[in-house]
Amino acid sequence: MITALDKDRIRLRDQARELAQGPIRARAAEVDRTEQYPWDHVDAMKDAGFLGMTIPKAYGGQSKDWLDAVLVIEEMAKTCSIAGRIAVETNMGAVSAIMAYGSEEQRKLAADMVLSGDKPAICITEPDAGSDASGMTTRADKRGNRYVLNGKKHWITGGGVSRLHLIFAKIFDEQGNFEGVGGFLAIRDETQGLEIVKREPTMGLRGIPEAEVAFNDMELPPSALIMPPRGLKKGFADLMTAYNSQRVGAGTVALGIMEGAYELALDWTEEREQFGRPINEFQGVQWRLADMSIRIAAAQALIYKAAESGKDGFPDKIMAAQAKIYTSENAIQVVNEALQLFGARGYSRNLPLERMARDVRMFTIGGGTAEVLRNVVASGLLGKKLPQTRDGYMPKMEAAE
Ligand SMILES: Cc1cc2nc3c(=O)[nH]c(=O)nc-3n(C[C@H](O)[C@H](O)[C@H](O)COP(=O)(O)OP(=O)(O)OC[C@H]3O[C@@H](n4cnc5c(N)ncnc54)[C@H](O)[C@@H]3O)c2cc1C
Repeated sequence: MITALDKDRIRLRDQARELAQGPIRARAAEVDRTEQYPWDHVDAMKDAGFLGMTIPKAYGGQSKDWLDAVLVIEEMAKTCSIAGRIAVETNMGAVSAIMAYGSEEQRKLAADMVLSGDKPAICITEPDAGSDASGMTTRADKRGNRYVLNGKKHWITGGGVSRLHLIFAKIFDEQGNFEGVGGFLAIRDETQGLEIVKREPTMGLRGIPEAEVAFNDMELPPSALIMPPRGLKKGFADLMTAYNSQRVGAGTVALGIMEGAYELALDWTEEREQFGRPINEFQGVQWRLADMSIRIAAAQALIYKAAESGKDGFPDKIMAAQAKIYTSENAIQVVNEALQLFGARGYSRNLPLERMARDVRMFTIGGGTAEVLRNVVASGLLGKKLPQTRDGYMPKMEAAE
């Protein structure tokens, strides 16, 4: 739909399409049914060079930009949302924060782990701190040459399969003074006190676990702390800047799902006959298809534009939020319309539509809800901070987004 893709990008997209339409599609329903993390997808994507594409060449990656990653995620998500999410989380989110702000040692560690198949987990949300992430209570207390972490996170994607964890915590010095929010790196099974408590039974996206993760007197050396460029005081804001890439990635999964559903509907409405003619000969069906295609074209344009805005850094905050809001909301509509066009068959578990309808529902929630992202857009447009607390008090850190 977008004409600006050069030859290399078209080749990359076609390569991703071949993998997605082949072995990834073949196992998508089974991954959903068994709720097992698809390590075979991970291996196939690793062999194709789709994991850690955005990691700089100096660390073994390919120095690809966000749009390259978007093309791969989009293709994967057309047939399997989980493969799409794996492509997001091995190219964006935690790994992008580590590559941008981490020490040499931290970058090498993250690059090696991701390129060998690990999907890092990013741990921000807590039971009492969701949209208001700045209300987090997970703390890291400096004790001599260690930090001691205590707290609990939930809805952590990959909890129990991911090894590398990027953990957001409030940092306190030896005297108990609050210093700011930092991100700590810890490896599951190698770090005492990091516990995967339980898995959430989710509505969709069942092939990747969402887990509660606890830190019980978890000791980490200072070298585990990612020092944000503007220091700990601005640590939260800096770390959240990296999250703009994740938002574009999440929006791209929603885009891929809606395109997948639309393509199924397009074929079906030609094949299915009622009243002696294909159902796509009814104007009611034609207009539905036309509206779906408009939503897709607009969503794709917003996603690509947001991805390109991050050419020399992270995607623009407002563009990333706009793209994620529009895509996630319209993807729900398009999948729903596609399901309707299949009639009773759309409601059957034998077709992928019901899986897509469950999977796509997540994207207006995870990674910043559509409501909170509207606050981000409005704040940017108005050039004002928009504190959400009742008395307008801004906590001692940048407001949560
Ligand atoms: C599948 C999935 C995967 C996830 N993965 C991760 C992960 O890997 N790591 C991680 O840290 N987190 C993850 N999350 C958590 C996610 O980021 C949070 O769910 C999200 O930030 C919202 O927080 P909450 O669920 O506590 O909702 P709440 O903050 O309790 O919000 C409830 C409702 O109130 C609305 N609301 C709240 N504040 C405002 C406001 N100021 N203005 C208008 N409306 C408002 C919200 O939009 C929402 O509709 C994931 C969530 C899901 C569903």
